[in-house]
Amino acid sequence: MPDCSATRHIRAVFLDRDGTLIRDPGYLHEPGKVELLPGVAATIRALRERGVLLFLHTNQSGPARGMFPMSDVIACNRRMEELIGLESPFDGVCIADEPPGTQGGYRKPSPRFIAETIAAHSLDKAGCVVVGDKRRDLESAVAAGVWAIRISADRDDPAAAEYAAAHSFPTISRFDELMGLVSPRSAK
Ligand SMILES: [Mg+2]
Repeated sequence: MPDCSATRHIRAVFLDRDGTLIRDPGYLHEPGKVELLPGVAATIRALRERGVLLFLHTNQSGPARGMFPMSDVIACNRRMEELIGLESPFDGVCIADEPPGTQGGYRKPSPRFIAETIAAHSLDKAGCVVVGDKRRDLESAVAAGVWAIRISADRDDPAAAEYAAAHSFPTISRFDELMGLVSPRSAK
């Protein structure tokens, strides 16, 4: 029997995009510049093979700021999926395109996407985790009542580090370290 005492049984992972799955140069909009962070492709495939549900939740205010069209965001998502090597790695995708300060939308730290997904898939909150690099990712988890893991693979964000420590959320520096913290729980 493997020792799973330090892991949590996880059924669904809510994944941030920029700085979590791919490098974050800031307002990424060119598919040619999409670069997966180490360990992402193999870990995404391993989680899927074990029946874990994966949801992509990304704040993208660039289109609302008039910086680039939404089609660029979608093209970057496609390129990321191509690099992961799966046609549809996610069970759901939320591109929160509201500008900062918008109330009631999907932009993190809003827990709306997480809450709606939990309801739609009849998930147990204890089996859900958010993985992200920014404080607002972790805040969305707290607001939704689920666990979170901070990742510092691309950038070590001090505000996120402080928030994670205050909430006893673990930090990983490579995406594949996720497999040491979660023990996949397959469908009921
Ligand atoms: Mg991010």
